Amino acid sequence: TVTILTYKTARYGGQLVKVPAPHTSQRCSACGFTTPGSRESQELFSCKNPDCGWTANADWNAARNILHLYRIGHVIVEVPAAGRRGRRAGKTVKPVAAR
Ligand SMILES: [Zn+2]
Repeated sequence: TVTILTYKTARYGGQLVKVPAPHTSQRCSACGFTTPGSRESQELFSCKNPDCGWTANADWNAARNILHLYRIGHVIVEVPAAGRRGRRAGKTVKPVAAR
C-alpha cells in the first residue's frame, strides 16, 4: 500500500491540498464517470454510470483516483521516502513543511 500524504495540483496554483479532495471522491476510479451523486455516503462510493456500477469504499476510490491523476501527470504526489520502492516519479517535490 502506498501512503499518500498530500498532493499538489497546478490547477490550485501550488496550494497544498490534503486528500481526499472533493473531485477525487466524486470520480469513479473504474470508468472515470464523475458526479456528486456517486458518493453514496462518507464510506461508500457507488458509480452512477449504468455501464459500470463500480462500488467501493469511498476513501479507497478516492485514493485510486489520486493515483490515476498522478500517473497521467495531473497532480504531484508526495510519498514518504520509505514507500517509494525505487520508482522514479520525476515530479515529486519536497514537502513544503520540510524546507
Ligand atoms: Zn464507473
